[in-house]
Amino acid sequence: MHGTDGFFRGECNRWAKCSILTPAVSKNRNQLVRLHPSCTTSKSQTCSPSRNPGSPALFGMDAEALAARMVEAGEPAWRGSQLAKAFYRQYITELSEITTLPKLLRQRLAAEGWQVGRPQITQVFHSADGTERYLVQCQNAQASTETVETVWMPEGDDGETGDSSDADSPKSSSAPDLDTESRKPTSNAEGDLPRRRWHATLCISSQVGCAVNCQFCLTAKLGLQRNLTAGEIAGQVLAVFDRHAIEVGRDRVNLVFMGMGEPFLNYDNFMGAVRLLVREVGLSPQRMTVSTSGIVPGIERFAAEPPEFRPKLAISLNAPNDAIRSEIMPINRKWPIAAVVDAVRQVRLRPRERITFEYVLLGGVTDRPEHAAEVARLVRRSGLPAKVNLIAWNPGPGIDYSTPQSEAVEAFRSTLIDADIPAYLRKPRGRDIYAACGQLKRTVEG
Ligand code: SF4
Repeated sequence: MHGTDGFFRGECNRWAKCSILTPAVSKNRNQLVRLHPSCTTSKSQTCSPSRNPGSPALFGMDAEALAARMVEAGEPAWRGSQLAKAFYRQYITELSEITTLPKLLRQRLAAEGWQVGRPQITQVFHSADGTERYLVQCQNAQASTETVETVWMPEGDDGETGDSSDADSPKSSSAPDLDTESRKPTSNAEGDLPRRRWHATLCISSQVGCAVNCQFCLTAKLGLQRNLTAGEIAGQVLAVFDRHAIEVGRDRVNLVFMGMGEPFLNYDNFMGAVRLLVREVGLSPQRMTVSTSGIVPGIERFAAEPPEFRPKLAISLNAPNDAIRSEIMPINRKWPIAAVVDAVRQVRLRPRERITFEYVLLGGVTDRPEHAAEVARLVRRSGLPAKVNLIAWNPGPGIDYSTPQSEAVEAFRSTLIDADIPAYLRKPRGRDIYAACGQLKRTVEG
């Protein structure tokens, strides 16, 4: 698949998870009912979708493509900018509500079968720690039951610590200083009604399922079902921004492409989503991090992206050497650690930017003192400005691995720090709603 030699296909019978989120494909038809904004109090909610999945969607096109569409319809090109503003800045999801367009044009577009077609949140799970896990139904869903997962962490998970995410912190008068002490929404400076200012992290999926077959990830059990389109990837962001009334430039939301799927095996759509989020939504690529299992051709393409559209890069390392990595991440047999590191060296980092090595600690398998020393040597030998994010594996049903002891986690981190390698322990988020790393395949339980 995806131009590879078929290495992945058919091997996918174990599990694991990208660093943060619990992927899900819902099979329960009863869940798929529309979520209303006011339905936010219960632990999980269901609603029914109102859109027609068979109609062509305008969402996902950039202003230029929308302008071309308008010209085809006999309208001036600048109508495209009006549509883009409605979709990507005002979060409008119904053509009838775009009041900048003449009513007759709205009616004509609808009569021709066009719709906004933005992905919709169909179910929400609330964690006691504030994390929300969403099932999102996409515009091109092959079945009414097909969803992907997106996770909102209102106080982040410290995954971006130490990687230059603060480099572009908004400090202008239009974007007041953030309350970085509490990292919680704060009141505005004018003393008006309290206004929320978020400092959150949003984890996004890039595929339905995944073909990479990491042995500790539940998504692998699903295999690859299909690639998400650029609109479906960016649409997860807009659906959540809409839910939380995010004001870009004022609220601070970091995006991590670490959900369901391998972004670099859906490269064009992943980068299409990034461009849409940068150009049309106004997000900074320095607030985005993409994590890859080590798809070397994808890393090489990524290295050639212009800095204005290039997110930060995280490598899902997870093992101290090729022997262990090939066992838990079979992709390593195709692209071993040295090849991945060579490709990463081609990325021209911004000032203060670091490469992140994600490292899931599996008890007794990858968490031993000798493993920590080996990781320290590996990172130092790479010569890359890098940091390591440690993630203690969470137990899950049917999984043979075990959670590392907290002493082992701390000793691992100390070894890295003693070797002058920045190392951070990612906070587990949303364990009680199966949103934390490794707590997978529990889609409908909350
Ligand atoms: S690359 Fe795929 S299989 Fe590996 S951790 Fe990410 S989602 Fe799971």
